[in-house]
Amino acid sequence: MGKKKVVKKGKKPHKNKPTSKKYSMYKVEGVTLKKERFCPRCGPGIFLMKAKERLYCGKCHYAEFGKSVVPKEIKKK
Ligand SMILES: [Zn+2]
Repeated sequence: MGKKKVVKKGKKPHKNKPTSKKYSMYKVEGVTLKKERFCPRCGPGIFLMKAKERLYCGKCHYAEFGKSVVPKEIKKK
């Protein structure tokens, strides 16, 4: 019996998507959050998602309100 790599079924083939403007916007926000907005419970590495007026951790459901969540300060490149 030889060992063979079996490709699992049900996996969709990876498609290359064109870079959209949405993605570039998200990237800017991501950098901003990455600098200082990580989850105080989960520690650095788990970053908070930015909602309208709060930050939210998808892992432990920690939420932070107000403070420097101001999208106006994002500069255009
Ligand atoms: Zn967390």
